[in-house]
Amino acid sequence: MSYVVTCPCGVTIRGEDVDQFVKDVQKHGKEVHNQEASKEQVLAMARQE
Ligand SMILES: [Zn+2]
Repeated sequence: MSYVVTCPCGVTIRGEDVDQFVKDVQKHGKEVHNQEASKEQVLAMARQE
């Protein structure tokens, strides 16, 4: 089971470890979009597959 987020910019971020996945998504949001997201917000956007 992986966590997956497809960002509106087209980047797909995937991870199996929830903490690492959340960090990767937060890093992308900060670096690319200058947006901060909480863990709860990241997980609300994520799907599992
Ligand atoms: Zn993006």
